Amino acid sequence: MRERSVLLACWLSIVANCIATGLDAQATTAPSSNGSRVVLNDAHFHLTNYVQRGIALPEFLRMMGDSVGRVALFGIPLQQEWLYSVSGARAPTYYLNTDAPLYYYSFTDAVIATEYLSLPPRDRARFDPMITGFNPADMYAADHIRRVLETFPGVFTGIGEFSLHRSSCRRRRSPGRRA
Ligand SMILES: [Zn+2]
Repeated sequence: MRERSVLLACWLSIVANCIATGLDAQATTAPSSNGSRVVLNDAHFHLTNYVQRGIALPEFLRMMGDSVGRVALFGIPLQQEWLYSVSGARAPTYYLNTDAPLYYYSFTDAVIATEYLSLPPRDRARFDPMITGFNPADMYAADHIRRVLETFPGVFTGIGEFSLHRSSCRRRRSPGRRA
């Protein structure tokens, strides 16, 4: 298999900095003095995978139970292409399953917002949805972020994680040149 076409610039500090409050992992496993059974907060959870499938947020809430407090929530901004000429009838579900390319899938932000808005306010308070569905090397990325914030006011609390295609890195090294 050829060198992978994706370079994940995972988990930039901006994610942690943008999250509203209270996402520091807690060291204790015992109930706290205020009676909380929360043992950790998760600063990195993808609700969707590389083919934009995943569990519904209510199901994830059940998994969190009362031991996971808050979660930074985002989709995967890349969609794995299923090319018949590369994979035949075998549908790839992960970017290591095929040599076919990926593409930026901005709708993942709408999926996250819709899932979040489907929850009652009490459950929404446990999530910090993040905007991920853009190419960070694209000068128009700010337009996408602005559009998402205007379309889903009050939903997103930050940006990230970022994902970079290797091809985007090449373009940045050679401005103006296209393969
Ligand atoms: Zn990640």
